[in-house]
Amino acid sequence: MAIERTLSIIKPDAVAKNVIGKIYSRFESNGLKIVAARMRWLSRAEAEGFYAVHRGKPFFNDLVTFMTSGPVMIQVLEGENAIAKNRELMGATDPKKAAPGTIRADFAQSIDANAVHGSDGPDTAKAEIAYFFPEMEVYSGR
Ligand code: UDP
Repeated sequence: MAIERTLSIIKPDAVAKNVIGKIYSRFESNGLKIVAARMRWLSRAEAEGFYAVHRGKPFFNDLVTFMTSGPVMIQVLEGENAIAKNRELMGATDPKKAAPGTIRADFAQSIDANAVHGSDGPDTAKAEIAYFFPEMEVYSGR
């Protein structure tokens, strides 16, 4: 299986709930290693740029407002099938539909305040990692 990297963001709702450590523990106990991390309070321009693919959608403005409502914890996760593995650990976008035991089922309250972001494919993972971290600040766990 391929060793991959993916971008993960612990969103403002989960940071405010003080569950960064609990979420990190899920990554670590499922074979994902944190190889870069940074806490940031995103500007509107940064959040708009990050979610550019959603520009024009009805939820775009609320999403940007939410993502800039408090600090976020941004990390690069590395491991076998890291992209799909992280999506599996996150659960469905709407926490009401997320499988029991997933991060969103356990820590999120609504589709807009849904605790975590995770890249959805190899191309987005590469672009999203580069959006926040220069290559030299990602410390491979291999
Ligand atoms: N989102 C929302 N309302 C929607 C769909 C999405 O508020 O109807 C937000 C939600 O926070 C989601 C983000 O937009 O996490 C990005 O949407 P996407 O479909 O990419 O979901 P994800 O990949 O985060 O599961």
